[in-house]
Amino acid sequence: MNKVNLIKQNLNEKLWTDCQDKIVPYLTEQRGNLKGVSSLLLKPRNTQDVVNIVKICNEYKVPIVPQGGRTGLCGGTIPNKQGDEVILSTELMNKIINIDKDNYYLIAQSGCTLHQIKKFSEKNKRYFPLSLPSQLSCTIGGNISTNAGGSEVLKYGMTKNFIEGLKVVLPNGKVLNSIKEIKKDNRGFDPKYLHIGSEGTLGIITEVKLKLYPEIKNKEMAIVAVKSIKKAIDFLNLVKNKSLEFLSAFEINSDYGMNLIRKYYNNIDIPFNNEYPWYIIFELTSSQKYNLKGKIDEILELSYKKKFILNAIQPLNLRQYNNIWKTREFLSEAQKLNGKSIKHDISIPIDKIPFFLDKVEEKLKVFKKITLLTFGHLADGNIHFNVSQSDHLNKTEFNKLKKIINKVVFDLVYSMGGSFSAEHGIGKIKKNEFKKYSSKEEFMIKRNIKKILDPNNIMNPGKIFN
Ligand SMILES: Cc1cc2nc3c(=O)[nH]c(=O)nc-3n(C[C@H](O)[C@H](O)[C@H](O)COP(=O)(O)OP(=O)(O)OC[C@H]3O[C@@H](n4cnc5c(N)ncnc54)[C@H](O)[C@@H]3O)c2cc1C
Repeated sequence: MNKVNLIKQNLNEKLWTDCQDKIVPYLTEQRGNLKGVSSLLLKPRNTQDVVNIVKICNEYKVPIVPQGGRTGLCGGTIPNKQGDEVILSTELMNKIINIDKDNYYLIAQSGCTLHQIKKFSEKNKRYFPLSLPSQLSCTIGGNISTNAGGSEVLKYGMTKNFIEGLKVVLPNGKVLNSIKEIKKDNRGFDPKYLHIGSEGTLGIITEVKLKLYPEIKNKEMAIVAVKSIKKAIDFLNLVKNKSLEFLSAFEINSDYGMNLIRKYYNNIDIPFNNEYPWYIIFELTSSQKYNLKGKIDEILELSYKKKFILNAIQPLNLRQYNNIWKTREFLSEAQKLNGKSIKHDISIPIDKIPFFLDKVEEKLKVFKKITLLTFGHLADGNIHFNVSQSDHLNKTEFNKLKKIINKVVFDLVYSMGGSFSAEHGIGKIKKNEFKKYSSKEEFMIKRNIKKILDPNNIMNPGKIFN
């Protein structure tokens, strides 16, 4: 009998569907670049359902592709083209289990959206800091599996900083449970950390204990125009010197990026009438009443004096505040509407970014029909450096260039002590780079851990490792 039929036979039929119409949306990644095949979609509601599924899949050696909100940008949720893998979506595991306000944590199922977690925390006068433009769709399980970053890494760190415990169904169907009421548990190395950033290759995260922070009582921001990346970094250093403890976001965008927003979102008011080479959105937040507005005024005044900035606008109301953030948050979508692009999610030591951008532009000059878009989390040294297709270049020509351009960009990043994957992970599309730019020791440790935990290679095979 076909293996997938054996899985169906052994599971409660409420757990799965084999209706292709229902499966189709789960076969493509959100940018439409990758497509897989599968004849079975599983939707567990709790850890025990996942245990039942994983046990039977392991017995018949049927690979499982875990999916959360499917907003990942590296193809980690796409099954192979042979159609012999089943998809496990966590979307029905979407309950918040409990909150302990005194001890600043909450426990939730892994299919809760990030938005749901943030709103729930807010209602309880607590703050969950992870902030991504995809937060309406992405799930906390997906965030942990990719160790997501976002715009508040500067103040709070990456997702791994918020994880106090995980419940994970391992590839053999056994449960690794590190969710406890206690905070401290220092018995040697901690296996829960293996699952953070493991992109579904080591097990399925079903529940999470998340660290919460005091609610934000006060926030102020400004959008600033600067002449060059060098000036942006001078400005960043000044902001850090004046207010590092409050600085929660420092996002950069270029004139090209702002024009993409102008082109595709004419309902968003662009804050400036003039065009400038670069824009920065920076935000200060505090859990105490504090005169942040005064801080921002002081920073801007000094920055004008030192000629770090060309112009600055502070929002006068919530509508303007949201509007300014949209110029950053809608950027990926605007770029998608504008056509195909080769995306690089890279990190470089901050003071080397101007040199990197000059050098990479020089090296890419030979490719005439491309446009460069640089934006992202400048204060973390994490920039999204994207190469867009010009109108004159056909798809085949562009795809051929992709390999060459990736090599140019990643070799340069590597030579400068940077990373070719700052926050999006490896998935299906960066496996070669993962091997090429990791030390032998690091690669061997990661591969051996995978082999030990998943000897039948049923957990998201073909992701991270070939
Ligand atoms: C517009 C846009 C903006 C974005 N901005 C950012 C950003 O600023 N910073 C950033 O870091 N990322 C960003 N992303 C990428 C993406 O949102 C994150 O990677 C997010 O964490 C993925 O969550 P998800 O639930 O969608 O996971 P999915 O895409 O469903 O899955 C991602 C990976 O995790 C695995 N996985 C999912 N759930 C589980 C689970 N419960 N157990 C085990 N494995 C699982 C999957 O197999 C896959 O390998 C952005 C994406 C978009 C579309």
